[in-house]
Amino acid sequence: MTAVAAPVPHAQVVCRVLVVEDEPDIAALIAYQLAREGLRVETAGTGQEALSSIERDIPHLVVLDRMLPGISGDEVLRKLRAEPATSGLPVLLLTARREQEDRIEGLELGADDYLTKPFSPRELTLRVQAILRRAKEGGAMAGGSILSTGPIRLDVPSREATLAGRPLELTRTEFRLLQTLMERNGRTQTRSQLLEHAWDVESGASERLETRTVDVHIRRLRAKLGTMGLWIQTVRGFGYRLKAPRAGE
Ligand code: CA
Repeated sequence: MTAVAAPVPHAQVVCRVLVVEDEPDIAALIAYQLAREGLRVETAGTGQEALSSIERDIPHLVVLDRMLPGISGDEVLRKLRAEPATSGLPVLLLTARREQEDRIEGLELGADDYLTKPFSPRELTLRVQAILRRAKEGGAMAGGSILSTGPIRLDVPSREATLAGRPLELTRTEFRLLQTLMERNGRTQTRSQLLEHAWDVESGASERLETRTVDVHIRRLRAKLGTMGLWIQTVRGFGYRLKAPRAGE
């Protein structure tokens, strides 16, 4: 990830794709095709290599072959989904098999989409663009995929949080909670609203959930934000809001 202090308009964000494929010819073909689309492509030949690469730098999308020597693509996907930092990372799964069960299995594992070999370069491009578009839309509700409030910065598609340039380790829920507060900067959110947005709880259903859950997560989030944790203000009788102090306050 490049070090950018200010919010970046979406058009300037070059999407990075990691292609995980052990067959060099296929990897090179996919990389060539995606690079032509203006994407920054990296390749990994094994599952282990892929995991190390993602640990160093989370891409915007992973094109993942299921059949890999050593750690299989399925296993890589399972590991990604188990980690809060990569649980929402878009993954396009590649397979040589055609059976319908494989498709279902792949999607159950948490792949965003699925492509059966052999596929046309055009098909690959369309699937990749569709996934990236969905990811952008998901993170563009505040007008950009990168949110920032003071030194707090969230890169929504890649789920990277930083505090004054340093990585901030957040769980998926904490990330979404902070994202919600940042998107609604300064506006008080009730616990029910936060449950609906950060926990994907449907409107109305939140009453059945313990709203104290929100308090617990807010407390953890504040602790992780250090001094900036004070910016998450309790609005007695209502809920919470994120408010950065103005200069001089
Ligand atoms: Ca393979």
